[in-house]
Amino acid sequence: MRATCATIHLGALRENLRRVRELAPGARVMAVVKADGYGHGLERVARALEGADAFGVAGIADGQRLRAAGVSQRIVVLSGLDETCDLAEMRRLRLDTVVHHEAQIDALAADRDPRPLRVWLKLDTGMHRLGFPPERARDAYARLRALPCVDKDIALMTHFANSDVFDDALTTQQIDRFDRAVSGLDGERSLSNSAGILGWPEAQGQWVRAGGALYGISVVAGRIGADFGFRPAMTLATKLVAINRVRRGEHVGYAATWEAPEDMLVGVAAIGYGDGYPRHAESGTPVLVNGTRANVVGRVSMDLITIDLRGHAGAKIGDPVVLWGRGLPVEEIAQHADTIGYDLTCGITRRVRFVEEE
Ligand SMILES: *Cc1c(COP(=O)(O)O)cnc(C)c1O
Repeated sequence: MRATCATIHLGALRENLRRVRELAPGARVMAVVKADGYGHGLERVARALEGADAFGVAGIADGQRLRAAGVSQRIVVLSGLDETCDLAEMRRLRLDTVVHHEAQIDALAADRDPRPLRVWLKLDTGMHRLGFPPERARDAYARLRALPCVDKDIALMTHFANSDVFDDALTTQQIDRFDRAVSGLDGERSLSNSAGILGWPEAQGQWVRAGGALYGISVVAGRIGADFGFRPAMTLATKLVAINRVRRGEHVGYAATWEAPEDMLVGVAAIGYGDGYPRHAESGTPVLVNGTRANVVGRVSMDLITIDLRGHAGAKIGDPVVLWGRGLPVEEIAQHADTIGYDLTCGITRRVRFVEEE
């Protein structure tokens, strides 16, 4: 069996939820589990985070999976309904829907089913992706309020574009625009994602929407989850499958991008971009061999990577190699691959075995 394995630390997920609550003591927590729980496994994450007040998903299919797994909390479909026929399924599954566009209100207005759906009205305060412009907020709210098929408790939300920069003027502006747009309207407020929870305590409202923080991942430049009291929820590991002697001046891997500066040992580990390890990870990206740092050298290939074993004299075939997780922050690997930690955990492919541990 291939040694490549992602271990999901259930205790870390629970502990991270506790930490989110500590940082946002006045708010309820929507655990965002889109993209298969940021690659950690949707049902498994939901089970570990059973203490969450709600779950946020990208689409109805994830809501179906969560209900099938016995999840009873509120589930919020963050992109809302696509087609009128979605409404019946949302009712059947008791899913809340985000409403971010006039066309979605039209679909609700055409709906003849009297059973009320719970709605989160989303405003675009500066991200310019999904949401009503602030000046349309009152109108959209009034339209929704007048519909018999919409629950009267409408939540009000917006999403930050740059909250991971803790002194960013855009976020201050977004908070201000949101406050003005919803002032006087009844309904719970929700503004903050993980970075908002960490850096913008004035924007916690009644609901925070935590994704990355629950998985122990930070998107704040130069900081890792542990800097904020979070623990990694995934460790990706494999084994050494070969150790080769390479002479000075010889090259390693595709396109011969790396040249051995001396006679040395190069280890080969069973992981590659076919498993979701980033192909763009450059020479010098760290791994842990037997718990000690070593560097990737040469190109990442589909099934394998090559590792500089200078300073790892005792290494032998079968020894463990950690790619990220406990002892090696995924944020650091992401930096070497010109991306963010979320992208890496989301990108683990189906051939990787998942195991759970406390
Ligand atoms: C993904 C998402 C979140 C969570 O963002 P994190 O940075 O992972 O905490 C919150 N709100 C919405 C609308 C999202 O799409």
